[in-house]
Amino acid sequence: MAGLESEALFKKSKGIMPGGVNSPVRAFRAVNQDPVFMERAKGSKIYDVDGNGYIDYVCSWGPGILGHADSRVIEAVKETCNNGLTFGAPTEKEYILASLIQELVPSMEMLRLVNSGTEAVMSAVRVARGFTGRDKIIKFRGCYHGHSDGLLVKAGSGALTQSVPDSLGVPEGYTESTLVAEYNDISSVKDIFGKYGSEIAAVIVEPVAANMGVVPPVSGFLEGLRKITEQYKSLLVFDEVITGFRLAKGGAQEYFGIVPDITVFGKIAGGGMPLAVYGGRRDIMEMVAPLGGVYQAGTLSGNPVAVTAGIETLKILKEDTGIYNKIEENTTKIRLAAEEAFGRRVCVNQAGSLMSIFFTEEKVINYTAAVSSDTEKYAMYFDYMLKNGIYIAPSQFEAMFISAAHTSEDIERTCDIINQASELLKPYMGAW
Ligand SMILES: *Cc1c(COP(=O)(O)O)cnc(C)c1O
Repeated sequence: MAGLESEALFKKSKGIMPGGVNSPVRAFRAVNQDPVFMERAKGSKIYDVDGNGYIDYVCSWGPGILGHADSRVIEAVKETCNNGLTFGAPTEKEYILASLIQELVPSMEMLRLVNSGTEAVMSAVRVARGFTGRDKIIKFRGCYHGHSDGLLVKAGSGALTQSVPDSLGVPEGYTESTLVAEYNDISSVKDIFGKYGSEIAAVIVEPVAANMGVVPPVSGFLEGLRKITEQYKSLLVFDEVITGFRLAKGGAQEYFGIVPDITVFGKIAGGGMPLAVYGGRRDIMEMVAPLGGVYQAGTLSGNPVAVTAGIETLKILKEDTGIYNKIEENTTKIRLAAEEAFGRRVCVNQAGSLMSIFFTEEKVINYTAAVSSDTEKYAMYFDYMLKNGIYIAPSQFEAMFISAAHTSEDIERTCDIINQASELLKPYMGAW
């Protein structure tokens, strides 16, 4: 529940920014509340303008794998700032970050630094089209790839029909080349290839879907995508904006052992600053201007301050051997606590340090099952967690992010509060 300072700020902000926010999910509408305004954060904790502290599992929607304000990152950023914020000219730091990314993710033979995940995905799709000379792409229902026009589609009425934009202001012509398949259903992909195979430039997928809540790939799904794209000479694009540097140092492609042609990174890659990356096979990336005919540019691309935050974060991840085991183990503890507390009334999905509790008895392996969740119950659960100092995503369809800064006390307290929340919710959830 928002305190008085938050309420006052929200009231003012609403008059000047749509919904009082700069990105819709921050408005807490999905949980029927007013937003909490934040002031500062350190480690696993975030503090609001009313002086309340929370254990943070939003982690800025993914970037915060080290927790907040890691002193190693902050010091390096401060030092960089002293030398100037932006030059619009190449710097050594860009080369260092690019090399570090390539070292951690060998499929990134050549890459570009940009400013947001949206921009990176948009550019990746453009280069896939430029390289193949084909227009159509396949995306999956429930996967999010940023808010660019052609990708703002989640549901056609059936996979083979034309896609309808999710947003006003997107001309239908902009999405007609976007075909929608079902996540974790390779036969839906085969059907589309059967009809349009020679016209499909690329299949784009979140290797672990994390924008309809967390939905891991079923066995054989990613392998199937790799195979069918090769068969039809289409490209496989992994949107690793969330999974990159989170599931493993080398992202989902290392975790699952599937190598895509093009990969997009964001979130963790910028260490908390606006930065994203697209890249992959050298022959494909050589299509990008000034080498090739695919145009893409950016005034602030490769910004030294953002690049520094990215370098320091990736260096820490590269050198630390314990982080990934620790965050996965801590996430498992929370998952087990949730499963024990709620039993078969919920479906808890986990992939590494990503987790979601779905308020449904269905096994959530796709969008249809995900949206069978009872969002009213999620809202009650969210409210209890927030009141008890646990900040989770204000929407059923976002991930819970566990960071290296979460302590065993944080995890224990979280498990306790989840258990208490389940007691509170019991009367509303039918026979236990
Ligand atoms: C967040 C996200 C994006 C968009 O990144 P922005 O930096 O918000 O533009 C794209 N793809 C996935 C999978 C994401 O989670």
